[in-house]
Amino acid sequence: MSVKQLQEEILDLKKNCDVTILAHYYQTIQIQQIADFLGDSLGLSQIARDKANTEYIIFAGVDFMAETASILNQDKHVLIPNYESCCPMAAFLTPEMVIDFKKKNPGLPVVTYVNSTAAVKAESDICCTSSNAVKIVQKIKEEFNAQAVLFGPDANLADYTEQISKIKTIKMPENGHCYVHSQLTIEDVRIIKRAHPKAKVIVHPECQRSVRELSDFVGSTTQMHRYVKESPSEINEFIIGTEIGLLERMIEDFPTNKYYLASDKMICHNMKKHNLELIKYLLENLDDKNFEIKVPKNVAKRALGPINKMLDYS
Ligand code: SF4
Repeated sequence: MSVKQLQEEILDLKKNCDVTILAHYYQTIQIQQIADFLGDSLGLSQIARDKANTEYIIFAGVDFMAETASILNQDKHVLIPNYESCCPMAAFLTPEMVIDFKKKNPGLPVVTYVNSTAAVKAESDICCTSSNAVKIVQKIKEEFNAQAVLFGPDANLADYTEQISKIKTIKMPENGHCYVHSQLTIEDVRIIKRAHPKAKVIVHPECQRSVRELSDFVGSTTQMHRYVKESPSEINEFIIGTEIGLLERMIEDFPTNKYYLASDKMICHNMKKHNLELIKYLLENLDDKNFEIKVPKNVAKRALGPINKMLDYS
């Protein structure tokens, strides 16, 4: 069966189901094309809270994103097409580690990147995403009247936030990172810049500082998308320093530009574990509990506060 036929079957099946399909920008373009809503972590969290008014939500993203949707929608069924789609960055930080950091740093607020488990969020004062980390750290520092914040699990995002906000971030742990973004090197960027000297380099804050400093723009996936959208027409070549799914989105949305992936290593194999066949299976088996993400009530209750606080501050 062709991709187009499969997409049509999914859209037909969906007509008779009370379901919303959310997809992250790092999904394949075939999945992005059939989603009701597309976005980054922040955008999808807001949509999950405010617009997903259906009994079922299919979340084409990694596990922590589906957990966040479940926490925000405890009366709904949140399903993930492939339950092996996990984020290795989230595994860098456990709730026990957060408790230990809090003991050693009394009075400091805990800011956790949404790329963390529900149990870690439950130990936090507030969550953040790559879109709003700077604003969140500024606000929570003020609220706690603190000199620094505890920040995890991404040490590169913590470093970027500290660089922009000038507020000290104590990294939980020192070396948490995303394998997709952190493997992009200065050498990769120099090589691709030499090949395309007119192109603007736009990268994600999860990249290392040395790479960020070589770039023309640093931002979340939504902010990178907006940067391309709002660039004047004479700027029409872009080197994309994030997961390949965003580059595919840009080709669809702004097809007259030229795009180059900063490195061919920039593929998140965890995000790519979903496919159209799995989504079709879910639509035919919405009550298959094997695919439902349900955060235990006591954890969900405690994690809801930091997530809502982030959404209110955003
Ligand atoms: S791109 Fe990085 S942070 Fe995002 S899901 Fe993949 S491993 Fe996790």
